[in-house]
Parts: sequence; C-alpha cells; structure tokens
Amino acid sequence: MLIKTDDTVQVITGADRGVRGRVLKVDLEAGKAIVEGVAKVFKHVKRSQKHPQGGRLSREMPVQMSNLQFYCESCSKPTKLGARFTDDGAKERYCRKCGTTVGKIAPAKKAYAKK
Ligand SMILES: [Zn+2]
Repeated sequence: MLIKTDDTVQVITGADRGVRGRVLKVDLEAGKAIVEGVAKVFKHVKRSQKHPQGGRLSREMPVQMSNLQFYCESCSKPTKLGARFTDDGAKERYCRKCGTTVGKIAPAKKAYAKK
C-alpha cells in the first residue's frame, strides 16, 4: 500500500464518494486509514473534566483503503501510485498517469542505481 499519512486522497466509492481529504492516520494491519472530513460521525460525550459541557464531538472513522485513491495534484484526478527506482538507486512513488514523482520512500542504494 503506497498511501501515506499527509497524502491527499479521494474517496472513490461509498457514502462519501468524491470527497477529498488529507490522510491523518494509516493502519496498515487493518488496511484502513483515517481521512480528514471522510466518514464523519458524532460521538456523544458525557460531561467530564475534559469536556465540561459534554455534547457531540465530530470525529472521523477509519475507512477501508481500497475505497481511497491518491489524488494527484498535477493531473487533478484520483490516480494510482507506482513505485520505481530513480537513477541514483533511491525508491520513489510516482503517479502512474502523468509520471510525476510524489516523493522518496527509500534512500539511495548503490545496488539499484543505474550504471
Ligand atoms: Zn498525475
């Protein structure tokens, strides 16, 4: 799974289809991610020291990552991510539609460098 925290993703299916947001947290074990503004629920809280007023708190629920797609800024579209080696042997993520680099995911390694 190539989606990471702080990526912008778009929901491609379900009730929040089309909603775009920032990834707040990724749970690789469960295959779920929490996305800002997606799958919002109200949590009702009793009065307590932390919440003297009590009331309803809005928070996001984790959503299945298969329902999300990376949102590419340069295509302005949800796209798939790929991984590839750069010339110096580092591993990077890229948009499979336009080929734009989305950031390194592993430092340069000589073994993978192009000669
Ligand atoms: Zn793109």
